[in-house]
Amino acid sequence: MISRSTQLISTSLFLFSLSVTTVTAATDDCIQTITPADDAYTGILIDTHFHIPQTVDAAGKQPELGKNITLAEIACTLKAEGTKSVFAFFPVYEDFDYEIFIKEARRAEANYPKRFVPFLMPPTSDDDPPTANAKTLKQMLNSAPGLFQGYGEIGLYSFNDGPQYPPTAQIFKNIYPVVRNHNLMVYFHPGQEQSEEFAQTLAAHPNINFIVHGDQIQPYIDELMNNYDNIYYSVDMLYGDQYLLRPEVTKQEFLDAVADTDTLLQIDWATWKPLIEAHPTRFMWSTDRGDAVWTFDQEVGETLANHARAFIAGLDPAAQELFAYKNARRLMRQTGLGN
Ligand SMILES: [Zn+2]
Repeated sequence: MISRSTQLISTSLFLFSLSVTTVTAATDDCIQTITPADDAYTGILIDTHFHIPQTVDAAGKQPELGKNITLAEIACTLKAEGTKSVFAFFPVYEDFDYEIFIKEARRAEANYPKRFVPFLMPPTSDDDPPTANAKTLKQMLNSAPGLFQGYGEIGLYSFNDGPQYPPTAQIFKNIYPVVRNHNLMVYFHPGQEQSEEFAQTLAAHPNINFIVHGDQIQPYIDELMNNYDNIYYSVDMLYGDQYLLRPEVTKQEFLDAVADTDTLLQIDWATWKPLIEAHPTRFMWSTDRGDAVWTFDQEVGETLANHARAFIAGLDPAAQELFAYKNARRLMRQTGLGN
């Protein structure tokens, strides 16, 4: 999911927010405090759907880097839960100098190499269209050659009763050559009934790897994977298909909702095990964190990772590492990122 309640404020206030000193989390605290189940998967994890907080004034209690959350705190949570890397969506908003946002991605890569795999996420102010155009995207990418490994997450569903944008829309047809030129992955959240447009897009761009997620495409993912090699899916609705990592839910409500691990695992295995085992090289673990400050909390992170570890242990052994991190790492290597 993508947060849409972002409110941008005046440049003067924005510049003020830049001067706020951030607190660095003590590295010693970044240790696991909740032990995974005895028989859980113990290997590497890569979270393939992760929203980096914005760096301009966020609405209400939304996360904002340097105000109510820091990258150091996020990195600390990832270390404690044992997640090696995340596919990190760095938002770039129009009406601001994009260098301000790109600098954040550069800093993340410099301070935490390969922990945050940078994706460029350039929405428009009302999400209609849901992305900056090819020309602007090209300028952003050219200002940071080699930094970004992906483009997205871009929502193709309707925002505020606006139109859906299929992956065959002209704005994307103009964008595909740009992302191909920069060797980027494309991350889409599809809209309703777009399977035919996805089939056309996957066929037309065999050299671009597309990652998708969400309920809208889930009924068609098996068939799309049967027919096309360049589509991947990130699974984030574990813990019984509950949509919990959002501002309307509190940390305690989340912890309560996921407490009955055994029951939730049965639901998760019933939903995902057949699909993952039918396409073991295409499904990847993810969380879709970042829409509320508490989703970066260490206890929450460890709970998410531990549930994933228990879930992964129930998969066919041949699929476990592929789902946990190897498919993600293969995609990273294809964009030119080493180990
Ligand atoms: Zn998302």
